[in-house]
Amino acid sequence: MAKILDRTKRGTRTAVIITIVCALLIAGVLIYDAVGAKNAAIRSNTAMGTVVTAKVWGASGEHTAQAVLDRIVAMDEANLSAHNDTSDIAHINSASGRSVKVDNYTANLITRLLLAAGQTNGAFDPTIGALVRLWDIGGPNEQVPTAEEISAARATVDWHQVQVSGDTVQIGKGQALDIGAAGKGAACDAAKEILTENQAKSAVISVGGSILLYGENPAGDDWSVGIRDPRGASNTQLGTLTLKAGQCVSTSGDYERYFEQDGVRYCHILDPRTGAPADSGLISVTVVSPSGLVSDVLSTACFVLGYEQSLPILELFEDAQAVFVTEDRTVLVTPGLAGSFDLTAGSYTLGALS
Ligand code: AMP
Ligand code: MG
Repeated sequence: MAKILDRTKRGTRTAVIITIVCALLIAGVLIYDAVGAKNAAIRSNTAMGTVVTAKVWGASGEHTAQAVLDRIVAMDEANLSAHNDTSDIAHINSASGRSVKVDNYTANLITRLLLAAGQTNGAFDPTIGALVRLWDIGGPNEQVPTAEEISAARATVDWHQVQVSGDTVQIGKGQALDIGAAGKGAACDAAKEILTENQAKSAVISVGGSILLYGENPAGDDWSVGIRDPRGASNTQLGTLTLKAGQCVSTSGDYERYFEQDGVRYCHILDPRTGAPADSGLISVTVVSPSGLVSDVLSTACFVLGYEQSLPILELFEDAQAVFVTEDRTVLVTPGLAGSFDLTAGSYTLGALS
């Protein structure tokens, strides 16, 4: 997972930052930076089943950081959460195939998700809800289902059946939406709007495995983001990405939520084609894009597709670049990031792109 590093003042962490670091470790994300910590406002909360942290520099940093958190919590509750009975997604899912009037934001988001499902050849499919529930990976009922159960749940996964018309949405009978692969990136995009409205100077917003780097790094350097070692402890890193302002970074990995049975690791990212956890030879994928939604959707889709099949998909998105980590510990970086990635973990090797 991504973490922000400050090369210049790493030793000057404040107690506040240490508190946040502890909270973020739980989510597998770590913000180390103490860049201008005295001048930055830091706010943290939970939403979307993870820790959300807003760190904002500028005159009204405190107000803006709080506004970012409020917006993300509100969009989770009102729009995206599958668990909150009153959210738009819960309403759509419980309507069992009937059309439901939703917030304009939700309708637009679902439209974009359907587009992304098409662009990724269905590797990302927001109608994966029934399969997610069946496997319940990381939940109290996680299990390896029977072939019949998988086949029945998989039959409900088909983004083509979702219809959006104005602000009404209708899914197919028996289908369930799950926005888990895209919500954190969408939250970064919503945060960007709040930061712009409030004329923030610089900010780092982290929502679980997605991070937004907004404005220039106050330390005067490019931003430096650490990618987590997929086979190391939660505070160990694989390498660093040096990035310009305005980028979002999302990581999907098989270490985030999984269980093991009979020596097999079953992770939370599912392949809609098989109905089982993705088995594409990758253990993590990080995608960088100016769009949080694109980076989040693509990190999940690329994890499902594997390295070879992901390359043509990434090319459909003008500004998307990726770092792939394969199960044999090879790291593959797309050309646009070649000069920006620094491999620091000795047990991995940098591979050549095919
Ligand atoms: P991420 O960590 O962004 O890769 O998202 C993983 C989450 O997205 C899972 O916990 C599921 O809720 C959901 N999910 C799993 N597989 C898929 C898939 N193939 N397409 C869309 N959503 C998925
Ligand atoms: Mg994702």
